Amino acid sequence: MIPYGRQKIELDDIAAVTAALSSDFLTQGPKVPEFEQSIAAKVGAAHSLAFNSATSALHAACNALGVGPGDTVWTTPISFVASANCALYCGAEVDFVDIDRETVNICPISLEKKLVWAKANHRLPKALVAVHFAGEPVHLERIAQLCAEYGVKLIEDASHALGAKYGGIPIGSCAQSTICIFSFHPVKIITTLEGGLATTNDPDLARSLSLFRSHGITRNEEWFEGPSHGPWYYEQVGLGYNYRMTDVQAALGLSQHAKLNAFLERRHEIASIYDKEFGSLELTCQLRNPISYSALHLYIVQLPIDLRKQRRKFFETLRTSGIGVNVHYIPIYRQPYYLNRYGSKILEFPNAEQYYEGAVTLPIHPSMTEADVEKVVISVKNAMKAI
Ligand SMILES: *Cc1c(COP(=O)(O)O)cnc(C)c1O
Repeated sequence: MIPYGRQKIELDDIAAVTAALSSDFLTQGPKVPEFEQSIAAKVGAAHSLAFNSATSALHAACNALGVGPGDTVWTTPISFVASANCALYCGAEVDFVDIDRETVNICPISLEKKLVWAKANHRLPKALVAVHFAGEPVHLERIAQLCAEYGVKLIEDASHALGAKYGGIPIGSCAQSTICIFSFHPVKIITTLEGGLATTNDPDLARSLSLFRSHGITRNEEWFEGPSHGPWYYEQVGLGYNYRMTDVQAALGLSQHAKLNAFLERRHEIASIYDKEFGSLELTCQLRNPISYSALHLYIVQLPIDLRKQRRKFFETLRTSGIGVNVHYIPIYRQPYYLNRYGSKILEFPNAEQYYEGAVTLPIHPSMTEADVEKVVISVKNAMKAI
């Protein structure tokens, strides 16, 4: 089975991990700050903090922005549940904004309409988690404008989008947002096994993120509330968690990050073959904005409306041919946990519903061979004939 996404681990990655395992530090050594610096330099952000997952980084981000009981956080329904769960961890509520049919990203027009309604009803959200879906940047300029106009804090969930650019500017620069989050789960763009990272340009947010990831403890004298008792002294100045990345993981992250451009180029090569081969089929692909550079984490095709009832057959035919197709994502509001909390919201999100009925994710990842790509192309063409 050719999986929809997969890590690419080579001998030099294994050597980097082995070297880290034999070093003095397995957890809090020099590799974590080195990895953080390498990402910060690449995306152009002032602060960069590694976490043990993007989920914990999202939790820390919501906390840093003061999200708490009585607040609401908005996000897209077409994302992994972590984009919404982070608000619930902080005791806040979650609501969703419908997607744009073509980009599959949060729709700026729906966002504006919902903000107008929310303002009139005193229901404005504290923060918006904007997900760069499948690695394709959201309409960042318009979304940031709207967030500024309505006093909403913008968090970027760039779990899919390491290496992506919007208007030539790397995602993660936080030029138009408060905090940006990356994931290094094996199916994402680069991997540290589990792992995540937050970038920001705001020193106060960076401090909060740093404390939150490690028990609220600091050894930085500037952050102490009282006088130091001596060289052993540290203070717990807030309540945090153990959300730290290990040095061994950061060593892998550094080795992987050096290959980021090559990984992205390979994803783009595969996507352009798919674009060309599927151009004549009755399939719609996610629209890629010409001013952006997508990280192409996922390559998703959508069946035309009259064939949507055949989606399951299309999916199963492909799986039977050894193509590890998937569906990203079941709308978050359809998950039983959310349905039980909020009741059915299906009618509010016609674009997300329509997208979900017809979407199938095809394999795209840098370890695919030419033969793999060809097999996907032939299998998709055959499956279209079969339905
Ligand atoms: C993968 C993913 C996450 C969570 O990442 P972890 O590192 O597995 O915690 C969050 N948001 C989105 C959009 C994701 O795809």
